[in-house]
Amino acid sequence: MTDCVFCKIVAKQISATNVHEDELTLAFMDIGQVNPGHVLVALKAHAENLYALDETQAAAVARCSARVARAIRDAFSPAGLSVYQANGEPAGQTVFHYHVHLLPRHAGDGMELTWPVKNPPREKLEAYAARIRARLPR
Ligand code: AMP
Ligand code: ZN
Repeated sequence: MTDCVFCKIVAKQISATNVHEDELTLAFMDIGQVNPGHVLVALKAHAENLYALDETQAAAVARCSARVARAIRDAFSPAGLSVYQANGEPAGQTVFHYHVHLLPRHAGDGMELTWPVKNPPREKLEAYAARIRARLPR
């Protein structure tokens, strides 16, 4: 996609600090570095979000993420690591080319995601699950 910053990184039209690549994915340093060692794993092909991935692409991102996450752990010894992936503006997506954040975490690092639980009754969970199950591919 001509106007996409991550497509330009994949095509080496703009520079990035790369960490790892394979046939389908590219891992590079997030320019913002919420914590040292913050890496993005992106698909090389342009796909806007998770919904657009085929099964091979989804598997490739998961494989690359696990591999790079272990290297981040060994390199930075973070207390934890968050995997963050946003789809759509309300979810916080700012670059509309599918990518996963691998974010080393430390106590009191200021990274916050509020989690406003609703704790609905079990019947609600069953109803929500039924709606999703009915739409899964067979
Ligand atoms: P998201 O908000 O999940 O779409 O994340 C987009 C991320 O891309 C942000 O954390 C940015 O810091 C990062 N980013 C944007 N432009 C670049 C760039 N040219 N090189 C590396 N990271 C970038
Ligand atoms: Zn793109």
